[in-house]
Amino acid sequence: MTARIIDGKVIAADLRARVAAEVERVKAQHGLTPGLAVVLVGSDPASEVYVRSKHKQTQAAGMASFEHLLPANVAQGELLALIDKLNRDPAVHGILVQLPLPAGLDTDAVVNAIDPAKDVDGLHPVNAGRLATGLPALSPCTPLGCLILTKSVHASLEGMNAIVIGRSNLVGRPLVQLLLNENATVTIAHSRSRDLPALCRNADLVYAAVGRAEMVKGNWIKPGATVIDVGITRVPGSSGKDRLIGDVAYQEALQVAGAVTPVPGGVGQMTVACLLVNTLRAACAIKGLPAPAV
Ligand code: NAP
Repeated sequence: MTARIIDGKVIAADLRARVAAEVERVKAQHGLTPGLAVVLVGSDPASEVYVRSKHKQTQAAGMASFEHLLPANVAQGELLALIDKLNRDPAVHGILVQLPLPAGLDTDAVVNAIDPAKDVDGLHPVNAGRLATGLPALSPCTPLGCLILTKSVHASLEGMNAIVIGRSNLVGRPLVQLLLNENATVTIAHSRSRDLPALCRNADLVYAAVGRAEMVKGNWIKPGATVIDVGITRVPGSSGKDRLIGDVAYQEALQVAGAVTPVPGGVGQMTVACLLVNTLRAACAIKGLPAPAV
């Protein structure tokens, strides 16, 4: 058996096109141009690449993009003052502070300072709490992308056994909540879980969000299961450029799973597309418009 490959590139492109169409509609019908502000502190090369990609994709979707680049030694008070300004700026509907922040800055205080209505990264405790209690919320982009990829295979997740490996606030925990809201039966695993292979073998849906290259082996996977690989480990490639390796032994998974996401070309493609979705949703909510059709 060879699994279906879930093409994140195609699904993300389709999502971006739907966002762009909705942006055009809200501009024409309501004079609303959704705006995303991205704050980058310091010059971490990986973060710079992400921020550039977010800027390009935001503009391509017809939204306004505001970039704020601050030096690594910026004072906490100065960063909080910028967030306060963005919270009050009517042209800004989404605020994303690129993480990780340089040492010396208090990440929790920064995230908590963002207006929850503009928290397009979904990390503010108000959004995490709303998601956990089943209320409408801005949810983190990567888990949202995982859910959309899963739904490209399964129209309904009701009653399915899912395992989420990893319990970070960024990926694992919000993904569990999204899956519960879809009526899946969810196991959440982590570094202290016992007999992870056996837990995995019981799952119709496997989400690996750990950051350990090829940890999930083919013989951990139930035949026909859908496998969503969130993990990214960078290893030096032969051409001098880094290669990205997922948390799942991909070639083995292809032989057993029903459907599987590649790395790269899977979940990673969805994260920025979902950021655009969240910005559009936030803009409509702030303006008092119905939720957009994306
Ligand atoms: P994280 O905060 O480091 O969390 C990793 C989780 O994995 C923790 O909950 C940890 O358990 C668990 N874990 C570690 N070793 C384990 C083991 N041997 N068995 C089972 N669980 C284990 O990482 P993250 O931010 O959630 O990111 C996870 C991965 O996804 C990383 O590779 C990251 O690069 C990638 N990622 C990708 C995207 C994307 O767009 N594709 C976005 C975000 C993250 P404990 O809680 O017990 O320590």
